[in-house]
Amino acid sequence: MKYDFHLHTQYSFDSRMTGDELLQKAVDLQYDEIAITEHLDLLPQELSIYGLPSLSKYQAYIKALQDKYPQVKLHKGIEIGDYHQVRDFAQNLIAAFDFFPILGSVHFVSEHLNVAIPLKKPLSPKEVEEYYLHNLKLASTCEIDVLAHLGVYKRYYENAPDESSALPILKDIFQVIIERGIALEINLSSLRKPYQEVIPEPLYLQMYRDLGGSLFSLGSDAHVLEGFGDAHIIAERLGIESIAPRRRR
Ligand SMILES: [Zn+2]
Ligand SMILES: [Zn+2]
Repeated sequence: MKYDFHLHTQYSFDSRMTGDELLQKAVDLQYDEIAITEHLDLLPQELSIYGLPSLSKYQAYIKALQDKYPQVKLHKGIEIGDYHQVRDFAQNLIAAFDFFPILGSVHFVSEHLNVAIPLKKPLSPKEVEEYYLHNLKLASTCEIDVLAHLGVYKRYYENAPDESSALPILKDIFQVIIERGIALEINLSSLRKPYQEVIPEPLYLQMYRDLGGSLFSLGSDAHVLEGFGDAHIIAERLGIESIAPRRRR
């Protein structure tokens, strides 16, 4: 099965890809399913810059694209940033929209430390632990289908950092998502960045499997057209079955 469950288009503040070019490429490459997962970022420091997106307009946009490109199943997904910090607000906002998949992702370790963008300096071991504790809280308390880009702060690193002090937290995260039926995203954006490896890395994917985890979600996290189109090849390389997650609610 060819699918990609993490894609950003013009509705995300940081993407210029049009829905039409994405869908046309998905049709050309004979994808079975894709999910557009625009950002929903609701922390005060983000809202003051980007404001609230119109989810009604977004919904209409997805419907129009699906009508125009019936060859590919198009999911109306969403990536909720730092969901656990804005949980009730976010839940109320999305209640009427039936989004799937809902990706939960951690972008901020503290108010001014956004780890999804190039960092001024590598995170300290303490900050790494905090980063994973945020993921644990998110996975434990929020209604999500997919835990997205776990380890995102490493994307701009050249080499893998020592994360040994955070390993117990990572194990807890895996246990929680296994118990709750949340899929673990294999995020491909770091392959296109200095890190040159998927996140979580194969070592962690194995740790998740060893704990009994089997639900994966492939996400290129593409913001430009060139970033989309090879998820199934990478899944095969990793020995992951390419089967899209299903609704857990
Ligand atoms: Zn993200
Ligand atoms: Zn994303």
